[in-house]
Amino acid sequence: MLTVLSLALVVGLAAWSASRLAGASQANTPPPSSSLADRLDQLLPQTQCRQCLFDGCRPYAEAMARGEADINRCPPGGDATITALARELGRTPIPLNPAHGVHGPLRLARIDESRCIGCRLCIKACPVDAIVGAPKLMHTVIATDCTGCELCLPPCPVDCIDLGPPPTRILAPVTAITDPVTSS
Ligand code: SF4
Ligand code: SF4
Ligand code: SF4
Repeated sequence: MLTVLSLALVVGLAAWSASRLAGASQANTPPPSSSLADRLDQLLPQTQCRQCLFDGCRPYAEAMARGEADINRCPPGGDATITALARELGRTPIPLNPAHGVHGPLRLARIDESRCIGCRLCIKACPVDAIVGAPKLMHTVIATDCTGCELCLPPCPVDCIDLGPPPTRILAPVTAITDPVTSS
């Protein structure tokens, strides 16, 4: 009887030790590395302007990761972004496809608040929630959040939004966002 109990105890201890070892092994397993789409997305400027003809930077990154889109469709990123994407994909950089636009200095949206009628159409169009305002009251752009995507311009019924150079105080961080090569 004692032998049977001892045997059961040994078996139980062995099972408990095995489960503890398995648990420890799981806890020490490193998290899965980022996907190719994640890495490509991190190289894009996050302007969310859709000039690449995808619904933002992330869908474009996913299409490139699937091999369904070329690396030269992002005007805000320009040559710096193309070079970074090419490096990540082990490819040779190619020129920006002009069909998607041209690369130029960053410009941010500004609202002429004296003409704004508070229709909120620009708020609905902004992909990064960079415009604040209440219905029928003037709206304004949060310069530190604006990416210069221009998507708020077409819906404005009174044409009171234009683009201008970023204020000097925010130029440095914005430039860092839009130039993944020099910021890495
Ligand atoms: S063109 Fe570039 S910045 Fe604009 S949405 Fe596409 S990937 Fe993003
Ligand atoms: S405020 Fe206009 S230009 Fe700036 S991110 Fe929003 S939609 Fe784009
Ligand atoms: S779309 Fe033009 S008028 Fe309407 S809230 Fe925006 S800035 Fe004002």
